[in-house]
Amino acid sequence: MNRISHWIDGKVVPGTSGRTGTVWNPATGEQQASVDLASADEVSAVVAVAKAAFPAWRATNLSRRAEVMFNMRELISANRKEIASLLSAEHGKVLSDALGEVARGLENVEFACGVPNLLKGGYSEQASTGVDVYSIKQPLGVVAGITPFNFPAMVPMWMFANALACGNTFVLKPSEKDPSASMFLAELLKQAGLPDGCFNVVHGDKEAVDTLLTHPDVAAVSFVGSTPIAKYIYETGTKNGKRVQALGGAKNHMLVLPDADLDMAADAAVSAAYGSAGERCMAISVVLAVDSVADALIERIQARIPDIKVGPASEPGNEMGPLITGEHRDKVAGYVAGAAEEGATVVVDGRQGAPDNGGFFLNPSLIDHAKPGMKCYDDEIFGPVLTVTRIGSYDEGLQLINDNLYGNGTAIFTRDGGVARQFEFDVQVGMVGVNVPIPVPVSYYSFGGWKASLFGDQHMYGPDGINFFTRTKVVTSRWPDPRTSTVDLGFPQNR
Ligand code: NAD
Repeated sequence: MNRISHWIDGKVVPGTSGRTGTVWNPATGEQQASVDLASADEVSAVVAVAKAAFPAWRATNLSRRAEVMFNMRELISANRKEIASLLSAEHGKVLSDALGEVARGLENVEFACGVPNLLKGGYSEQASTGVDVYSIKQPLGVVAGITPFNFPAMVPMWMFANALACGNTFVLKPSEKDPSASMFLAELLKQAGLPDGCFNVVHGDKEAVDTLLTHPDVAAVSFVGSTPIAKYIYETGTKNGKRVQALGGAKNHMLVLPDADLDMAADAAVSAAYGSAGERCMAISVVLAVDSVADALIERIQARIPDIKVGPASEPGNEMGPLITGEHRDKVAGYVAGAAEEGATVVVDGRQGAPDNGGFFLNPSLIDHAKPGMKCYDDEIFGPVLTVTRIGSYDEGLQLINDNLYGNGTAIFTRDGGVARQFEFDVQVGMVGVNVPIPVPVSYYSFGGWKASLFGDQHMYGPDGINFFTRTKVVTSRWPDPRTSTVDLGFPQNR
């Protein structure tokens, strides 16, 4: 049995806790590896390694830090197929989707290549007579990243690229469900010239996470995962004096107005709902269809579903892989079963006809007449289930989105620019698409939801990422000039 161990101080280090987790092959339902789960003492030892590496790394000049990122950019690019196949093997997503994940993660390494420019502060000459004031951005120290199963390469890249480029050292606690991509990235960072100890991977569960959240030498925690855990991470981390950004779950609505191109809207809904088996935090899970076009839109979505090729990533041509675990597959199937009992209409039942080779497969489901108060509408399902809610007007649709617990992503489909502009003005959601169903911002903007989709005040990556991983120092300086030297007991002022 393949064993996945930790990456500490530039090498693979076997765990000593005696506890392990199971890494499934979701396409067959068999165990393919076991992963070491760290004890609190092991995590503390990793933090000590990162702490020891910090002084030299923060003193490393900006050109050199940028060079490491440029090298990393080349290495990821050269190894993109290998990373993608690791993602497919453990997560189950098909190769084209996995390659997309690598490409979107790589953007963040490219952004971090510009770190000399990104860390420029401000300078005010002659703020007072003979006095200059300037600001500098400095790294925080040891920072931790805790990541979810659904983007095992991209989400770590969201975090570590900016964190390292800014001069921090990093401890990554990836999802224990698909831990191999982070080990591969660690190896690439070493090849890119990152000194040992600056980037470490510790596998684990709640015990490891709790140690990071309470350890006095961890300055900040960047988290992506489900809302209940995000809230816990934020509350526990901040209570322990840490800077925390904790991104949570989602329930993304797509509002389709009567003037929309219905074929384009149906293509977008199908792609965004069922891609990666719906295990994306930016997946569309609810279509809000204005009554006059609802039948026509549902017909178009339904017509596209039988063409979706569901099966293992190892077979070329498949478009949708399995879910992450058997337990999660059964939970998602439960929402489809429950929908009919709640009064919704199951138009396409994905529990039927999925590959039955033992893998965690489920076919796409489509549910009509879903409403607030039904579990299939209220909960984040995180699987290949698209629900449709029929609405009377734009205003009703907007109200539903704004009343929702989550506020990660949303999209409007219309040909009316004025309405689209009003939507982006009014909607209480952090990332908005106009005729774009998965509006994940490019790396030079920042990624983050509103409401229960984000705890904290800094979004992920981009300019917010630089702010999150640095703190600002402002220097007020006067060089000796006998002409301006006096005794003055008043509070310093500039007039
Ligand atoms: P999860 O919350 O179960 O796990 C995320 C991380 O937290 C993992 O590393 C896990 O080991 C750890 N963890 C789990 N339970 C814990 C506990 N009780 N105490 C401490 N740590 C714990 O999430 P997941 O199932 O891996 O990922 C799917 C979720 O992530 C979905 O809700 C999805 O919407 C969300 N997600 C959000 C974004 C975003 O940007 N907002 C992006 C990707 C995924």
